[in-house]
Amino acid sequence: MLRIFDKVSDIQSVLSKERAGEKSVGFVPTMGALHAGHLSLIAKSKQENELTVASIFVNPTQFNDKRDYALYRRDLEGDSKMLEDTGCDLLFAPSVEEMYPNESYKTLDFNPGPMGERLEGAHRPGHFAGVAAVVKRLFDIVQPDKAYFGQKDYQQYLIIRKLVSDFEMPIKVIPCPTEREESGLAMSSRNERLSPEGRKQAALIYKVLSKAKEQISDKSMSLSEIRQKALDSLERNGNFKADYFDICSAEDLHAATEQERATERLVICTAVNLEGVRLIDNVLA
Ligand code: AMP
Repeated sequence: MLRIFDKVSDIQSVLSKERAGEKSVGFVPTMGALHAGHLSLIAKSKQENELTVASIFVNPTQFNDKRDYALYRRDLEGDSKMLEDTGCDLLFAPSVEEMYPNESYKTLDFNPGPMGERLEGAHRPGHFAGVAAVVKRLFDIVQPDKAYFGQKDYQQYLIIRKLVSDFEMPIKVIPCPTEREESGLAMSSRNERLSPEGRKQAALIYKVLSKAKEQISDKSMSLSEIRQKALDSLERNGNFKADYFDICSAEDLHAATEQERATERLVICTAVNLEGVRLIDNVLA
């Protein structure tokens, strides 16, 4: 049975009792509008912990685009049903006032370093500062043993890993593979804003990423040629506007060099706009 809390003090008192019984706690932070990608994180936490906690909070401070914040689907009832069916134990779904009783909770003295300036950091000013502050607040409330993050938001995963390391929090950050629709499109709460035609077109994103991955391993083209070809394929499809398509080090997201191609783990990351919806995806190479 899923137990739902909207007050910090209520979930904290339940969690402190559960922890006293030495139960390990797994945590999955989300913004709701849940889909099978989120549920795969819950399932992984259930496998690895005695107690699984999810949170749903559409965090205003991480949205640089007010329209995106306003359009974000809120459906606590539907989400709770999905969490219950997946066997999640506790849900924390606070109001904005509960999360931010004063302004000091909205900011954090944390610097993700150069990787915070790249990709999403370059295109969504203030986004990662908002993410870091809210995740730190949620970690302080829930104090999980393990926290689960999707590789779909690869840069976010790396930044949270650094956050936990910089603040010496005793939390293991677990990356989880990207769940995709049959077409290859990465599942996202924002996909539902696409028209049926747009959703079909959006399958191109994963095709282009996969092609670039092949080209990286077959070595017939330089990284800059691969990148340019990918941008051309995305933009040839008249409705896409790419914010970036970059081949990066999977460790810290710096732009990969030809020398690193053979020796480093790489990640190919892209963000595109389609029908007024911003979609991101990546593949490890
Ligand atoms: P969100 O609600 O979009 O903030 O996402 C909450 C968590 O679910 C984040 O760790 C995301 O990376 C993860 N997530 C979102 N979409 C997917 C997906 N398609 N596959 C796996 N994890 C995902």
